[in-house]
Amino acid sequence: MKSINYFFLLIFLAGMISGCTREQEKPEKADNEHFLLATLFQQKAAEKRALSYQAFNMAKFMLDGEMRRAGLTKKLAVVVDIDETVLDNSPFQAKCILENTDYPKYWNEWCELADAKPLAGSVEFLNYAKSKGVEVFYITNRKIKLFDATIKNLKEKDFPFADKEHLLMKTDKSDKEPRRNIVRKNHEIVLFMGDNLGDFIHVFNNKNIEERFSLTDSLRNEFGRKFILLPNPMYGSWVDELFESNYDLSKEEMKKLFKKHLKDF
Ligand SMILES: [Mg+2]
Repeated sequence: MKSINYFFLLIFLAGMISGCTREQEKPEKADNEHFLLATLFQQKAAEKRALSYQAFNMAKFMLDGEMRRAGLTKKLAVVVDIDETVLDNSPFQAKCILENTDYPKYWNEWCELADAKPLAGSVEFLNYAKSKGVEVFYITNRKIKLFDATIKNLKEKDFPFADKEHLLMKTDKSDKEPRRNIVRKNHEIVLFMGDNLGDFIHVFNNKNIEERFSLTDSLRNEFGRKFILLPNPMYGSWVDELFESNYDLSKEEMKKLFKKHLKDF
């Protein structure tokens, strides 16, 4: 009886050893755990909600000032980005972590649900602008095929001006400047709101990390005045620049680069 037990123990141990070898041979599968705290900040930090209120309170204050300004000839407009500026897509990001998937997987499905929640204070501020005769234009880099779903989402969450004239989707270029210029033809844009510096002005397009810092310094007086920024620790140009937008890199290589950027003491 005892020898039979030893026999099974030996088979079990042999299996364990060969299993370990197979595990060691497999390349380490990179996960999306690096998004975890950034996404939890969006979803669970009251500080994030406070920052959102802060941005829209500031926007109201600045808009009131602009409306008092004499000599305005054109109709006034506020230009806002959509994702992570007025709509919260953190559930999509959470899906990427939990299922270890990456954009663009699930992105269209998520947008088609048309159920992204408004960022705190956004609906109120944009309706306030409307009540004062100021038009709101949404300039987003969502693809045109998501037009109907985006309009539906905005309408159902009570955003004003959710219509064809006021929603400018991405067509061929990510650069938002040509679309801002369309708005400028008949409107004076008094305020830009976004989570990415490219939502404000074209000079930030395709700039590296140091250039982005230096341009930000040169525009320091615009922030909190004409440019109102919302936080987005989950993604954006700032992340793309960490790996120089080289999407051919494997996830492991990208994560190595992320760590390389860390400064310690
Ligand atoms: Mg955005």
